[in-house]
Amino acid sequence: MSLRDYWETFLGLLFPQERSCIACRGPLPETDLPGQGWGREPANGRQLWPKGEAGANGRDGLPLTLEEGQWLPEKELCARCQSVLLPIEPPLCLLCGRHLSEPGRCPECERETSFVLSRSFGKYEGVLRDLLHRFKFSREEDLGIVLGACLQAAWDLHMAHFPIDWLVPVPIHPERLKERGYNQAERLALQLSSYSKIPCLPALRRTLYLKGQATRDRRERLKALQGTYVCDPDFSDRICGACILLVDDIYTTGSTAEACAHALRQAGAGQVYVLTVAR
Ligand SMILES: [Zn+2]
Ligand SMILES: [Zn+2]
Repeated sequence: MSLRDYWETFLGLLFPQERSCIACRGPLPETDLPGQGWGREPANGRQLWPKGEAGANGRDGLPLTLEEGQWLPEKELCARCQSVLLPIEPPLCLLCGRHLSEPGRCPECERETSFVLSRSFGKYEGVLRDLLHRFKFSREEDLGIVLGACLQAAWDLHMAHFPIDWLVPVPIHPERLKERGYNQAERLALQLSSYSKIPCLPALRRTLYLKGQATRDRRERLKALQGTYVCDPDFSDRICGACILLVDDIYTTGSTAEACAHALRQAGAGQVYVLTVAR
């Protein structure tokens, strides 16, 4: 044991660390015993997850086995954060998954797209927005577990019944990868792969490093993005004729999803679906 370890143990005895919520960092009440984190019903009576429903292909309902306390016990969400991490309420846009007041397609989805369906777990706001932001820009890798669980819930709700052959993460440019340390979409896709037992294929490459995307409108973004994603020729025989689920953290205007789906279709993909944590 090094001097530093001794010092940290000593400090730990003097100031025992409070267990805190992984999202808001607030203290967890003593009644929130480890392992009881996400298995419970939220205070407002609505179920956070489709509990116990067997998914397609014989998979069991919940992402990870939360009730049995195998959920990393120190990675807990407080009751308030649990109660706001909820799936988007139907009716949803038939194409992009946006919440609508009545069934149908939203105005942005009147166009032709290269993907057949896009679905997301929750709305990009509040706690979910904060978690995604910290996961992407602050290297808080642990948050991938919570966000991955959200993606798994969305998988069970919207995608598990489709005959998906491959999960393909939206790639980031190597320069970005150097800055961030990891590709957040790939982390999420790998987690979903271990849950769904559908293999993950890094079939797309990001070729251009675009700056100032935020200032462009959707049409300009789409035009700029065409050609920035290409399918890696090494994977083309696996992509050809296959049913692909494109995985990303956020669906904003849909231009990234469209550009990636376009590249996959160009490479011969049969159908492309899209799944993101938020939109
Ligand atoms: Zn919290
Ligand atoms: Zn739509």
